Amino acid sequence: MGPDRLSIQAFLDDLEASFRQASQRGEVASYIPELATVDPGYFGISVCLPDGSVLSAGDTQKPFSIQSISKVFSLAIALGREGDRLWKRVGREPSNFAFNSVVELEMEQGRPRNPFVNAGAIVTTDAILSGRTPKETLAELLLFVRAACGDDEVYINQRVAEAENRTGHRNYALAHFLKSCSNLNSPCDRVLGTYFHQCAIEMSCQQLAAAGRFLAGFHPDFDMIGEPHVRSINALMMTAGHYDGSGEFAYSVGIPAKSGVGGGILAVVPRRASIAVWSPGLNRYGNSHLGTLALEKLSRFTGWSLFEVARV
Ligand code: GLN
Repeated sequence: MGPDRLSIQAFLDDLEASFRQASQRGEVASYIPELATVDPGYFGISVCLPDGSVLSAGDTQKPFSIQSISKVFSLAIALGREGDRLWKRVGREPSNFAFNSVVELEMEQGRPRNPFVNAGAIVTTDAILSGRTPKETLAELLLFVRAACGDDEVYINQRVAEAENRTGHRNYALAHFLKSCSNLNSPCDRVLGTYFHQCAIEMSCQQLAAAGRFLAGFHPDFDMIGEPHVRSINALMMTAGHYDGSGEFAYSVGIPAKSGVGGGILAVVPRRASIAVWSPGLNRYGNSHLGTLALEKLSRFTGWSLFEVARV
């Protein structure tokens, strides 16, 4: 048995107090202009437990840009709609290069390694766009996210989406390469417009932790996607949720998780907890530096690593 709720809360409070002082916080993402000005001093962590209670410490009510964490939600919708057909277009293997690598996509002849690198997420967004307008697609995505977290106050930050559309030349390169390989159905600017808006969804740690319950297996009324798809998504989060840093993350944390360049991480401990952490400074893989450290400490304290054998 792991520690009880009171000791987890005390642990989170201590963690937050010590991380407030941390001098090494990583670098905030500067390639998206709107994110470059976010204060790196923020830190928040929320842990949602199977009984519905949420333990929190730090800045857990402030919405932040979820960025690539949104890829989990678009994948859930795409799998629900397309099932295994999606895997004809996207792989399920970890990646060797950065999340926005062009060279890897070329080496794979236009079939992205997995749905969490940018190229794979662009294909996934193209899949959920099929038969819908961008507006309808984003409305469906927001509906899904709001139902998942049980809170209607989740919005897209237009300024972040527009800033990325102006500066996202690498994503345009990926989209055009996908198109040249016939792995994109809609026009590039339509898919990317939708993708950038999806990445610009803002959520707080408390909302995100609640949203992860459907992946942890204890959402009260959420069967939008079936158990086999939940298992697939958790497996992909474990092997690819931190891009080319996923091996290191599995080694040190041992929990399926998805990061975003806004500094958030959503981590899922099947049947035990859904965790969201936010600290805007990033490590060299583009994953939250302190967020990763926080999850490593929490997983050691609770024994929540999937590879834990001592305290089962
Ligand atoms: N919107 C970002 C991009 O496409 C998402 C990347 C991320 O969070 N790793 O570059």
